[in-house]
Amino acid sequence: MAINEQQYKEIKNKLNNYDATLVAVSKTKPIEDIQALYAFGQRDFGENYVQELTDKQSQLPNDIRWHFIGHLQSNKVKYIAPFVHLIHGVDDYKLLREINKQAAKHKRVIDCLLQVHIAQEETKFGLSDEELKQIINEVISNPSALNNICIKGLMGMASNTDDEHKTGAEFRHLKGLFDKYAALSTSNFRLSILSMGMSSDYIIALEEGSTMVRIGSLLFGARDYSKAG
Ligand SMILES: *Cc1c(COP(=O)(O)O)cnc(C)c1O
Repeated sequence: MAINEQQYKEIKNKLNNYDATLVAVSKTKPIEDIQALYAFGQRDFGENYVQELTDKQSQLPNDIRWHFIGHLQSNKVKYIAPFVHLIHGVDDYKLLREINKQAAKHKRVIDCLLQVHIAQEETKFGLSDEELKQIINEVISNPSALNNICIKGLMGMASNTDDEHKTGAEFRHLKGLFDKYAALSTSNFRLSILSMGMSSDYIIALEEGSTMVRIGSLLFGARDYSKAG
């Protein structure tokens, strides 16, 4: 479907009021759709699958900031390490070590977000509050082990529900964790990004303190789920 410029502008205006960044989630969508949004000025795009991301990256302008928002497998980090702008879904210290190793090969520092499990559904990835605390302790107690990554913030996905109070409570919980750990700061741990909110709940997320929303279907139209892994 054609990208709706009016819709894009409205979302951008709303985000401006909150000083929040828009990541346009282009997974399963063709190159032409990304080019259309790019022409309107959009530069931050999010993808969930490594192969799809590298295919698209190789065909599109170099000033696009690519966000990896899916579940990243350690053995695939090397394919995105040369160019990825921000990895949203880190939920494992070993994965952080691998990102660090691959980033070092390219003499880069790769920015990462820690994904926290805030929804009640069991299928979603992410750290429990306790696991979050442990991984942060590991990162800040030995910063020289991870010179090529920087933890820039937290990411979370709310339950898939029509209950706005529940969604709001889940986001508020994540914002509470964010505020708590934002008080800490080391060479590779400085929280400034709170990535929460998608097409169905981004307004609630903004109200609860999101600084970065990940919006797909509202911009690009519904996805064909038979193709989305
Ligand atoms: C697909 C996806 C989105 C975007 O979802 P929409 O409902 O289409 O806006 C946001 N975040 C993550 C992690 C996703 O996988």
